[in-house]
Amino acid sequence: MSGSDTAVVLPEQVRTELRRGVRSVLIDTAALRLVRERFDDAQAGALRRYLEASQSANTLRAYRTDWIAWAAWCATEHRQALPADPLDVAVYLAAAADARRDNGTWAFSPATLDRKSAAIAAVHAANGLASPTRSDVVRLTLRGIRRTRRSTPTRKRPVLLHTLDQLLAQLPAPGWPAEPARRRDALALLVGFAGALRRSELAALRISDVHARTDHTTGEPLLVVHLPTTKTDPTGVAEQRIALPRGKHPHTCPVCAFADWVRLLEVHAEAGDQGARELAHANLADDTAIHRCHGFTGTPLSADPLRPLFPTINRHGSIGATALSGRAVAELVKRYAARAGLDPTLFSGHSLRAGFATQAALGGASDREIMRQGRWANPRTVHGYIRTANPLEDNAVTKLGL
Ligand SMILES: [Zn+2]
Repeated sequence: MSGSDTAVVLPEQVRTELRRGVRSVLIDTAALRLVRERFDDAQAGALRRYLEASQSANTLRAYRTDWIAWAAWCATEHRQALPADPLDVAVYLAAAADARRDNGTWAFSPATLDRKSAAIAAVHAANGLASPTRSDVVRLTLRGIRRTRRSTPTRKRPVLLHTLDQLLAQLPAPGWPAEPARRRDALALLVGFAGALRRSELAALRISDVHARTDHTTGEPLLVVHLPTTKTDPTGVAEQRIALPRGKHPHTCPVCAFADWVRLLEVHAEAGDQGARELAHANLADDTAIHRCHGFTGTPLSADPLRPLFPTINRHGSIGATALSGRAVAELVKRYAARAGLDPTLFSGHSLRAGFATQAALGGASDREIMRQGRWANPRTVHGYIRTANPLEDNAVTKLGL
């Protein structure tokens, strides 16, 4: 079931049939024919005009769209639209109730589903047929949809790779005063996503928690992030260490993002805001289309165990000494979502974590691999995140497609 009525392409013949059927919505054509036999054209015409005026143009238009969507579904599912089997109508409404838009919100409200049901009833009535929507199975389905919607809040939208690309595309242009925020935010979005981190974990990271290593299977650099032990792992056995391999593309490469960021922090540590500003200007000519992580081995800043990985930065580009709060990390994600034209209320710090699970599953990672990278102890939690995909085998993070 697609999230939109218009997604189904109908053969022209079906379309014509539908137009014929829909024109008679609320007008019993057989009855009108009888009227024409007993009265003259002017009298029959007047009656028809007023019957048509009994429903607003908006309602008729909505019914028409609803009927086309129903008939299209029937055509794809090999069901009969008119007269309809009540069970088919119930299954159709249930599928429509589960449909979501691209941004993760419900495609149809309970009121719209009621209207879809009313449209099906109206076309049946206009054709002198008993309405399938009066049956128990349809009524109970609609009631169940209303009750379910009342009790389940809209889920936060996961950040899929495509969405991550959209967020990264909103990073400020290189230069001053946005350069520090540009580098920090790129790293935060990438580490949060590839590491499947909670916003509190992301906010609490220190530079000394991130280690540059060589991936011996490829000879390429990778990052190993050590997480402080958390209370979220009831078994205590899951490794609080996550690996972030080099990305395929420089702009989605966590190692490049880390190298860029610590380079600026190093200059800042030595020469302050003025030094960072000069680096930002000098770097304008750098080619960001190539990897900067080649040969990267780490930073001397790791020697300070208290230095936050994601410090606050003010609007003048001045880097603070304290770490962003968990809330600030969530705000950061929402801010980029809003800039990308996405609904920020659907994004939370948690979205990066949910997005990781979903994207990894789409890339073919198994539940076990996803659980390992995301440090989920309960498979059910992971299943909750994975709404699509058919997982296959080992190490989820290599399947993110970064
Ligand atoms: Zn790189």
